Amino acid sequence: MNWHWSPALDMAPAERDRFLADALPGCYPGEPVRGPAPGGRSAALKHLAGYDLADYGRSRNFTAGAVSRLSPYLRHGMVSVTEVRDAIKTRYATEPARSEEFLRQLAWRDFFDKVLDWHGRGLDDNLENAKHPVERVRGLPADVAAGSTGLPCMDGILHQLFDDGYLHNHQRLWFAAYLCHYRGVSWKEGARLFRQYLLDGDVASNNSSWQWVESTFASKPYFMNQENIDKFSGGEYCRTCRVVCPFRASYDDLQEKLFNARRAPLQMVGRHEPPKPPVVRDPVRTVAPAAVPCASVVWVHDAAMSPDDAALKANPTAAVVFAFDERSLRREPWAFHRLAFVFDGVVELMRGLPNPVKLVTIGDPATDLAAAAKQLGAATVHATDHPNPWVRETTATLRKSFAVTDYARPVLAEYTEEPRRFSRYWDKSAGQVLGYAPKGGKKFQK
Ligand SMILES: Cc1cc2nc3c(=O)[nH]c(=O)nc-3n(C[C@H](O)[C@H](O)[C@H](O)COP(=O)(O)OP(=O)(O)OC[C@H]3O[C@@H](n4cnc5c(N)ncnc54)[C@H](O)[C@@H]3O)c2cc1C
Repeated sequence: MNWHWSPALDMAPAERDRFLADALPGCYPGEPVRGPAPGGRSAALKHLAGYDLADYGRSRNFTAGAVSRLSPYLRHGMVSVTEVRDAIKTRYATEPARSEEFLRQLAWRDFFDKVLDWHGRGLDDNLENAKHPVERVRGLPADVAAGSTGLPCMDGILHQLFDDGYLHNHQRLWFAAYLCHYRGVSWKEGARLFRQYLLDGDVASNNSSWQWVESTFASKPYFMNQENIDKFSGGEYCRTCRVVCPFRASYDDLQEKLFNARRAPLQMVGRHEPPKPPVVRDPVRTVAPAAVPCASVVWVHDAAMSPDDAALKANPTAAVVFAFDERSLRREPWAFHRLAFVFDGVVELMRGLPNPVKLVTIGDPATDLAAAAKQLGAATVHATDHPNPWVRETTATLRKSFAVTDYARPVLAEYTEEPRRFSRYWDKSAGQVLGYAPKGGKKFQK
């Protein structure tokens, strides 16, 4: 199905959600319910303007700490890493030490993007051998998929994931360690679950982080004990917990239990079979004829959703196309709250653009872009580059029939080595990110 832009332009959010739900059957699991966070550039900027770092450096590891929740907006390019960096640096210009830890964390995103840039689709597989001998199984356990493991902490985390689409970094680490090391499930299952439900779900930070926990992108596996969960969740889960806790032990005992056997200690309880998406007959794919012929087309993909995007800024008279990738969404449905978040961003973006033709399509991005360009008489397609492989593959397909102009995306640091460990990246890049050599940064190089 393809539709011309205008139908959804003036709809109120609730009406828009119904429209989206009807337009994308089989592309989301469960009911079409939006989450609490609104998507879009103005929400991103408002969020950034209202963010107080407070004591970020000391509190960020606590689930109630002063974290920003900016990742969903960063993921979709509704605000860029350089905009966030500059806003924070300006705000804390007189006390740069206060913002240093935040900027270092922001640099993890830049680092993981570089990991994806380097490995491409290779990041879907183990980057290194695991540093333990324990077998992993495929398939998500049914109790995990239902959020009913019986452990209040894991179930609480899962329900927050299913309902809100946001998890604190520590909650992600705990759940990832639980699924991989305690349940013996492949990190790929967890990464898929996160990509489907997290508002910031992406390939770069998500796959890399799961591999970091599993030890296929780190020198040792990450795991936690009950004391760690209790401390950093402020007692949220443990205070009233009455179950026999698998995490209640010393790190030495857990190391022995988790990594000195061939199988993980907790058995699989049934395997979750995802429901088959309804069979929808492939509609005839035609892009509604546009009133105005255009010499070129800008492709807005889901990581470049800002009017400040380089391709958009450079081409105010081009036609603009955003495409929901229907085939990918059927293969790996996104929670409706993710789709609504993205659509908020699309609607706001399109409303504000001066460009004469704006199209939103549902289908195959390369096919739809080619059809739109052909109908409009456009010979050139403009797009901002992104390491996400499907962005690169889509532009490669288009290049066979059109001239494609790539625009650079904002990055925090230029780094040409293979990104293997964050510590080395940070040694070399901190100066570019912070604008000065950090304390203790003896190895800092400009
Ligand atoms: C198993 C696992 C899966 C993850 N999956 C994703 C994912 O799909 N998408 C995603 O954006 N992040 C992912 N992360 C990284 C991190 O948890 C989130 O970026 C962070 O929690 C976002 O919350 P925030 O914006 O409040 O962070 P803040 O603490 O406010 O940090 C500010 C920004 O810095 C960046 N950042 C901070 N910590 C990290 C980190 N450890 N790795 C990468 N970037 C970081 C983010 O862009 C974040 O928005 C994952 C982490 C783990 C352990």
